[in-house]
Amino acid sequence: MPFTPFHYPAGYILSKTNKRLSLPGLVVGSVIPDIEVPILRIFFPGVWDHLLFHSLLGVFTVCTLLAVVVTRFIYPPIISLIFGVDRGELDDVCRVTPSLIVSCMLGALFHVLVDIPMHPFNPTLWPWVSPNEIVGPLVIILGGGSVFWGFTRAHILLSVIMGVLGIVILIVNINKNLWEEIWLGYNIPVENHERTGTNHSSSEIWD
Ligand SMILES: [Zn+2]
Repeated sequence: MPFTPFHYPAGYILSKTNKRLSLPGLVVGSVIPDIEVPILRIFFPGVWDHLLFHSLLGVFTVCTLLAVVVTRFIYPPIISLIFGVDRGELDDVCRVTPSLIVSCMLGALFHVLVDIPMHPFNPTLWPWVSPNEIVGPLVIILGGGSVFWGFTRAHILLSVIMGVLGIVILIVNINKNLWEEIWLGYNIPVENHERTGTNHSSSEIWD
C-alpha cells in the first residue's frame, strides 16, 4: 500500500465482525508492519524493503508485541490530543487484555494479507520460503508481462478500493460521535456517555 493509513478500513471492518475485538488494537496492528519499510531502506538499501514484519513469523511475534505496546502507551495520548477523544475512555479501551492482543495480531495479519496481491515479492513465509517465490497475483494479472506496471496498477486499484471504503466509513459515522466511532469503535450507551460527561455531540466535535 503506498499510504499505510489506507490499511485502516480493513481494521475498522474487522472490528464490526465481532464485538469482542478491539478497534484500537486492530488499527495499530494494521499499520505496524510498515514501520520496517523505511528502516530496511535506510540500513539495507538494495535488499528487500519488506521482510520480518511482513512475514507470518513477524506478525505473530514482534508485530503483535509492538502493536500491544503502541496501543497501550502511545495510541491514547495521541488520539486524545489530535481528535479530542476522551482520554479516560481511550485508556479503558486500550487496556492490555486477551482480546486486545488478538486484535493487534489480526490487524497485522490482515495488513500482510492485503499486501500480498500487489507486491512482486512477499516474505510471508520468510525465512523458510524466499520472498521472490511468492508473487502477488494482481501484479501478474494487471502487469501484462511488466512487473513495474503490474505493481503500479495493483497499488492504484487497492488504494482506490481502500480510499472509497474510508470515505464510506466517514459518511456512515458522520452523524454519530464521529471520532469515537473511528478511534474507540464501540458503542457506549448514551446514558453512560451522559453519566460520565463524555458525550460529544457532532457540533461539539466540529466546533
Ligand atoms: Zn505493508
